[in-house]
Amino acid sequence: MKKKSQERQADVLGTGSAGQTGLVFFPAFDWAISPSHPEREERLLYTRDQIFEEGVMDLPQIRQYQPRLADPIDIARVHFCVPDIETQATEAHRIAAGGALVIADALMKGEIKNGFALVRPPGHHAMRVVHGNRGFCNINNEPIMIEYLRQKYGLKRVAIVDTDVHHGDGTQDIYWHDPDVLFISFHQDGRTLYPGSGFTSETGGPLARGTTLNVPLPPGTTDEGILFVLDKLVLPVLEEFQPELVVNSAGQDNHYSDPLANMSFSARGYALLNEKLSPDIAVLEGGYSVETALPYVNLGIIMAMAGIDYSNLYEPDYNENNFREDPANIKRLGEIVRELSDVFQQRHELVKAARQTLGPLFQRNRHIYYDTDQISEKQEESLKICPDCPGYLFIGSEAVGPMGRHRVYCISIPLQSCPRCQREARDFYLKMRRQPPKSYDYLYLQDRAADHYRQYDYGSQKERVTHS
Ligand SMILES: [Zn+2]
Ligand SMILES: [Zn+2]
Repeated sequence: MKKKSQERQADVLGTGSAGQTGLVFFPAFDWAISPSHPEREERLLYTRDQIFEEGVMDLPQIRQYQPRLADPIDIARVHFCVPDIETQATEAHRIAAGGALVIADALMKGEIKNGFALVRPPGHHAMRVVHGNRGFCNINNEPIMIEYLRQKYGLKRVAIVDTDVHHGDGTQDIYWHDPDVLFISFHQDGRTLYPGSGFTSETGGPLARGTTLNVPLPPGTTDEGILFVLDKLVLPVLEEFQPELVVNSAGQDNHYSDPLANMSFSARGYALLNEKLSPDIAVLEGGYSVETALPYVNLGIIMAMAGIDYSNLYEPDYNENNFREDPANIKRLGEIVRELSDVFQQRHELVKAARQTLGPLFQRNRHIYYDTDQISEKQEESLKICPDCPGYLFIGSEAVGPMGRHRVYCISIPLQSCPRCQREARDFYLKMRRQPPKSYDYLYLQDRAADHYRQYDYGSQKERVTHS
């Protein structure tokens, strides 16, 4: 960035806008996967220096908050942690998630107009069942925040826009069957980048079809291409969905200097994206260009959220001509936008048709690989097809890895479930506890309707209950 702090300060003081932007900063300096891993302690060191050097924390538009620990119940609402929450969520993970909760509370209390949780470790590759670390993630910060908000403040409709270069496959998994949470991810094409998913055909489970939307971007996509997708797809879909809250999973690894991906997005592009999207809450995800990009992009997002002029924000090697899109790519992106807009428009009919044609259960079998921890998981997920609600879920999962072998059975009752499904699922848990059809290590009940969570250990025959 050109060192134009003084000019920026002058701009800043002239633009005072109503309402402050909340910031939580948690770099987790004592936690890393390994010393040389890209998701390591130094990741936010330069961002912190940049923010302090620019005097951002002293601006009247900014209000800083201290993070807190997320409670076990906050994690149990979202995840089935194997063998338990303590194993999967270290203190650093709980503070990262808790940082998002602090911003969420401040927003709901009206103390801030929006907020950005600059926390690590990230979370968007963590799925509903957690046997270990995948894609640098153990627990998923945004769903933990969203389920907290739904329980505490009664929010119903939420949109998550994932702007990390990697497909947010964990968040997608958690909301796959939830028609009230719109999940939109744009990312580098899964044929060329981890985790290898996020294609246009992935549009949600049968009773939530059309509220998961994925835009695979060709490697090298520029500011123009990404903003095209934002303008033509993301913003119109949000306008129609009318969420009560817009959350941005803000991964900064689309940046042209990022070592883990191959995109051509700039800090200005990110700031403009944020200004147009205008999320209520942004939560940091990836971004591994620790010294060169991350501080600029994070600062750009903070400035955009706070309504501060970012027109002087340039990387030292920024060249406008590098951020124009190949017309052939725009044409291809236009086709994707049309395809996904159609699915979104037809979502109610698609769900209605699924209810009429499917039997009482819908199943999917999956193989999930945990790259970081080298765990291989097999899942059989069943959805109860209900005429009155999005149904309840049960998942049989078996994982093998350095930790040994774990077999678990998980039952999840969504918040919007009907009374009959709630009864059925609770009875099913009791039946499974007495007489499992095959041998499992643990049985779980995630009862969001009652905000009540159980884990039964078949070995010790002990049950752990977590409730508010
Ligand atoms: Zn990423
Ligand atoms: Zn039902």
